[in-house]
Amino acid sequence: MTTDRPLLTAAQALARLREGNDRFVQGLARFPTVQKEILAELAKGQQPYATILGCSDSRVPPELVFDASFGELFVIRVAGNVLGASILGTLQYAGSHLQTPLFVVLGHDGCGAVEAAIDSRFRGQQHKSRIAVLLEDIVPALDGLDASQPPQVLLCQAVEANVRHTVRVLRESPEVQAREREGVMKLVGAVYELQTGRVRFLDEHSTAPAGA
Ligand SMILES: [Zn+2]
Repeated sequence: MTTDRPLLTAAQALARLREGNDRFVQGLARFPTVQKEILAELAKGQQPYATILGCSDSRVPPELVFDASFGELFVIRVAGNVLGASILGTLQYAGSHLQTPLFVVLGHDGCGAVEAAIDSRFRGQQHKSRIAVLLEDIVPALDGLDASQPPQVLLCQAVEANVRHTVRVLRESPEVQAREREGVMKLVGAVYELQTGRVRFLDEHSTAPAGA
């Protein structure tokens, strides 16, 4: 069921994402064409090296942003990169069956879902019922933010807070804790910058939550 490509460690997987994003930012991305022999090989099974939980936003396609090819990334996209029953199930599948060594929660600048959550939380705006359900997953991430800041600053902070919140919730799972402790898996948050194409990995900064 698996291909014969070697399994990467979490650190190697993260390095590969960084290198891919560097190529993308520098305009050196490889054109994503796939030879028939590779498709035939991939048809036998997949062994992606990273799972990405990203936003549905049309401007943030993970394969392109990380200059990754077919079979390399296991991608879940949902507005606001939130968790939910189906998404948790997909993540669990990625962990237990595909055993991707790296999990990335990828938010992005100017996220409309996060902005709608800000409107709902701080400005009393009403949303359609199913959107309101989606926003309920983002609103708790906004606790502690100063709503009197300029809207762009608030949105920036909220995007990062939403990623950190999702990472924190995932880390509460004993399964994630055990796999991180064993060193077979790494979970990181990241924010994509719309203007530059650069992915900023949050754990690089000292503002990472204690114990992360
Ligand atoms: Zn978004």
